[in-house]
Amino acid sequence: MAEALPSGPSSRSSVVTVRVPAKVNVQLAVGPLRSDGFHDLANVFLAVGLYDEVTVTPADSLRITCEGPDAEHVPLDATNLAARAAIALAERHGLAPDVHIHIAKDIPVAGGMAGGSADAAGALLACDTLWGTGSTQDELLSICADLGSDVPFSLVGGAALGRGRGEILTPLEVGGTFHWVFAVADGGLSTPAVYRECDRLRGDADVPGAEPSADLLEALRTGDPGALAATLVNDLQPAAVSLRPSLAATLSAGTEGGALAALVSGSGPTCAFLAKDADAASAVAAALTASGTCRAVRVTSGPAEGAHVR
Ligand code: ATP
Repeated sequence: MAEALPSGPSSRSSVVTVRVPAKVNVQLAVGPLRSDGFHDLANVFLAVGLYDEVTVTPADSLRITCEGPDAEHVPLDATNLAARAAIALAERHGLAPDVHIHIAKDIPVAGGMAGGSADAAGALLACDTLWGTGSTQDELLSICADLGSDVPFSLVGGAALGRGRGEILTPLEVGGTFHWVFAVADGGLSTPAVYRECDRLRGDADVPGAEPSADLLEALRTGDPGALAATLVNDLQPAAVSLRPSLAATLSAGTEGGALAALVSGSGPTCAFLAKDADAASAVAAALTASGTCRAVRVTSGPAEGAHVR
């Protein structure tokens, strides 16, 4: 992919808003710990229809603001992944990153749904458009990979297999719409802490290499929710539940409410429930709300489009 994104001078404007989706990992196979501290992954991402919106406008210096239910948990300094994305793009082009980045946050923070990664991908595309830097998709993807393992997927969306630490992407075909319910927990879980707990629980056990499941890829290709439910797997789930034992009750409440399958989303603590169709998803959501085992319940579907200018 080498074509330039629509960001030439003719399309330059003084305000750019990019919408960018959350993700669920329908397969997260975690291989042995590598010598660089990362794990090799077979990570099957599906973008789902919960979105952050990242708006950039020219400013005297780099500034971040954030609104939304979890806004107080989002850092507003240069550690914000959206700020890091703007700085990385500006450095590459010898520009000053003088931009106001406003994040309208709807993706749970530290919830295992790649909210920070979404904002990074959103800010990158928004700044590239605002500044008319005209990056190719490959250039943007390479900056994304430097910013974090999940950031490249946030840019492309849809469904993809991530190898390496998750950043080497192969797009996947999806034959239908999958209906999901997400149970948002109180507070987040730190992704590095969940990987450490995974290593601790594994102890000295021999860990096989991470490989994608052929059955799962076929279920995505055919769009069959029953087949996908039978193949969903997250190797981080035991670690997330070990750190947050209350997730077991959330997972049970969703399956008792009629979900085809339940799993922790990424490193958690958000739990994801696959439903047969939209009506079943509403019923699962009602059961989860009634159970009192989570802070909020969201109903949506996937695949969703990756980062795009509005
Ligand atoms: P992943 O699914 O990619 O492991 P996550 O969804 O669990 O990530 P994030 O929402 O990305 O977690 O947040 C993880 C941490 O990153 C937060 O606790 C916060 O301190 C930091 N962070 C940096 N930038 C952002 C941002 N733009 N939005 C949210 N959190 C951010």
